[in-house]
Amino acid sequence: VPTEIPKVYAPEAIEPRWARFWVEQRLYRPSEDASLPRFSLSLPPPNITGSLHMGHMLEHAEIDILMRWQRMRGQNVLWLPGMDHASIAAQMIVERELGREALPDLEPGPETQRAWQREGQRRRLEMGPEKFLERCWQWKEQNGGTIRQQMERLGASVDWSRARFTMDPEYSRAVVEAFVRLHEQGLIYRGEYIVNWCPRCGTAVSDLEVAHEERKSHLWYIRYPLEALEASPGHIVVATTRPESMLGDTAVAVNPSDDRYRKLVGRNAVLPLLNRVIPIIADDFVDPAFGTGAVKVTPAHDPNDFAIGMRHSLPRIRVVNTEARMTADAGPYQGLSREEARKAVLRDLEAAGLLEKTEDYTLSVSICERCKTVVEPLLSTQWFLKMKPLAEPAIRAVEDGRIRVTPENHRKVYLDWMNRIYDWCISRQLWWGHRIPAWYCDACSEIVVAREAPSSCPKCHGSSVHQDPDVLDTWFSSGLWPFATLGWPGKTEDLRRFYPNDLMIMGFDILFFWAARMIMLGLKFMNDVPFHELYIHALVRDAERQKMSKTKGNVIDPIEITEKYGTDAVRFALASSAAPGTDIAFSDDKVQAYRAFANKIWNAGRFILMNLAYLSEPAQRHLGKSLELAPEIEFNAVPGNESLKLADQWIFSRLSTVTREMNEALAAYRFHEAAHTIYHFFWHEFCDWYLEWVKPEITRPPDDSRASAAWVNLARVFEAALHLLHPFMPFITEELWNQLPHATAGPSISLTPFALVTSRAADPVSEKQFETLQELIVAARNAKAEMGLQKERPSAQVASDDLRLLELFRAHQDTILRLAGLEALNFVRGRLPADAAPVPLASGCDLRLFYERTIDRTAERARLERERSRIRQQREQVERQLANESFRSRAPQDVVAGVERRRVELADQEQRLAESLARLDGAAEQQST
Ligand SMILES: [Zn+2]
Ligand SMILES: [Zn+2]
Repeated sequence: VPTEIPKVYAPEAIEPRWARFWVEQRLYRPSEDASLPRFSLSLPPPNITGSLHMGHMLEHAEIDILMRWQRMRGQNVLWLPGMDHASIAAQMIVERELGREALPDLEPGPETQRAWQREGQRRRLEMGPEKFLERCWQWKEQNGGTIRQQMERLGASVDWSRARFTMDPEYSRAVVEAFVRLHEQGLIYRGEYIVNWCPRCGTAVSDLEVAHEERKSHLWYIRYPLEALEASPGHIVVATTRPESMLGDTAVAVNPSDDRYRKLVGRNAVLPLLNRVIPIIADDFVDPAFGTGAVKVTPAHDPNDFAIGMRHSLPRIRVVNTEARMTADAGPYQGLSREEARKAVLRDLEAAGLLEKTEDYTLSVSICERCKTVVEPLLSTQWFLKMKPLAEPAIRAVEDGRIRVTPENHRKVYLDWMNRIYDWCISRQLWWGHRIPAWYCDACSEIVVAREAPSSCPKCHGSSVHQDPDVLDTWFSSGLWPFATLGWPGKTEDLRRFYPNDLMIMGFDILFFWAARMIMLGLKFMNDVPFHELYIHALVRDAERQKMSKTKGNVIDPIEITEKYGTDAVRFALASSAAPGTDIAFSDDKVQAYRAFANKIWNAGRFILMNLAYLSEPAQRHLGKSLELAPEIEFNAVPGNESLKLADQWIFSRLSTVTREMNEALAAYRFHEAAHTIYHFFWHEFCDWYLEWVKPEITRPPDDSRASAAWVNLARVFEAALHLLHPFMPFITEELWNQLPHATAGPSISLTPFALVTSRAADPVSEKQFETLQELIVAARNAKAEMGLQKERPSAQVASDDLRLLELFRAHQDTILRLAGLEALNFVRGRLPADAAPVPLASGCDLRLFYERTIDRTAERARLERERSRIRQQREQVERQLANESFRSRAPQDVVAGVERRRVELADQEQRLAESLARLDGAAEQQST
């Protein structure tokens, strides 16, 4: 059957076709059969505002590898995809668009971006929420599909029929339900609190959304005159980094144990510039070593001062407003910006002689992570979620192992954070998002939290109520992701079947933002953990291990690079470096190397497909089906060829080992090990050895029964390898598998078993024998190369005390001669004398080549010395390994024992080489005397 398979591997011709096929055929919807074992994972929903970056690519590749692997192992897999509405990011983008429409002619650049943002914000306020939200939805319709298209293109095996968006009506109902229930249970409350306020974004931002930057500034020492009582004038000096905030001071505080100030506690000071009388109080929080040991207290503009204010019932005076300008309470400074107010205050203090001194000081400034504006700690009324009662069960779930965190070190980070948690401000002063389900009575100020808008006030029956204008923090809605996506609060079949999820994979940056909140809310509403395993993946860095960033210009676009080299190569490159806890140094070179690997697979596949004539109809029945069904691995022994039988036993045994190792590696998220294992098998064992070994049989005429038997085994090994490769390289394996003839048809390799060869094929004896032959062949090839005899066919001698070893070599003599390029091989019992300069082998024999050229003593000495130094290096490496305590304690016993044996072997080889060198010198001396 002539097969059309292009000569050149061209991923661009294959990948889009299969990507479409997988989606159109809806292959990745889980089966409805509820009795099947299931494996479920909810995709961390990317932001609707974005497109995929390399971090996503890694995350999705790792997830897809595991999902395909689990599916091929017979699990009923649900990988549920979706998108997050990303309140703040989406609102900023739409604002910027509005700004650009209003100011279309500006030169592009960061300054223009800011101008558009300012103008867009102004226009948003002008439009009002209703029109603005219409714009947002319009924008979502036009741009929200990018990520889905990209995911489809990259072959993510998700169930698109279950895709969710966090602002879908159904999902939004779940968000309201969660809010109302938490409020009913007293866990959500409304309160005045210091929040991080971004004056640019016009909203509160959570602590996690605040970045800290070291900046050079000053520490100002300001004299606060004491209130004149009787006749003891004077002042108390406070040190501050924010002089303008003094306008909101309502106390001066000192440490109660500070003797310097003991007499002043209980007296009053007079706030300069405003002449407000404020108390001097004692509070443990004050650090006597900071500044003068006396600090000003501004409860409305500093979280620590807020706490002090609570303890001492101090008034809270807001002197900075939400636009970061001074309020009426700032007196003469009203209307100034923070920066202007600082200058004015310092100038006036100076003029009044109240500025004692100024010191240089480096302080950590809080800035909005999104827009880089300095955040203002601001007193405001917000909605809060109590964390302690939710955190306690979430701590226990990780402590008692109901949720396993990999890598381990993140477990401690999680627990530390959870133990220090405080209440979460969940309201945001934004428009795009889930509106807070709270209504205020205009008549009596009653607050109603409800699932539906109330028609009248339940307290005064007034009919004028208005809804809270704020929306919920995006992480509040995504915290419900693992169950809200499955139909909660309904009691759905999906929820019953797929909750808890088996696994969650995410980046470290959202461990608190998201993982912690999912765990808390999952336990709260579902009374069960949201997932059993949490795997934290690494970062993708550039080749120099630098973080990818736009400013550095080292960002790699995942779509661009997959279009250049093929998705399979990019995925394999990522997987091959994806060791748990280790960041990935990613480069074009690496992808090119795996593109070459894909090419190797392609050529092997093409070779088989071009020779299907060898695979008769009955022989084809062995493909796919036979290995999965046969209780024993009965490969087709090629009649009359023992040597081939050993190669078959070896390759099937290797397949079973490789399969087991890959299963173990993937179960432990050791993607790199699984990738290296199959890479090594396919390239260095299947292509380099097996194909070469069986060549004489497979090149016989097609009607020769030996040829057809050999071809069946070859095709079966290839097919089994395709199955193992599939999770890593879904496209090329799908293409080649579909071209192979199959006894059982199916739409996709992704729905076939992962392991075609089981542990039944394990055959350690054959593996050992085959390795011994490999060693001999490689040694002969090396010796030829060292002597410059590559183009010749010298004869060789093998000597050993081990008769069975010689017997093995004799049985495979033809293959050895062919693969090593030797003319003849003769066998000697015993070991060769050192003056014969033999090559000692680990298997316990000596090899020497016969050649007619006279010995070039210098070259021979150089060769022996090179060989000795190579062996020495190997021995030293092995010794280092053995000296490594963590290797000895962690590696399995038999591995350690194997390494110890290897050390003895190497020492023995080294000794023999030393003897040979000594003999060579001895012979030279004899000659010269
Ligand atoms: Zn901001
Ligand atoms: Zn009312």
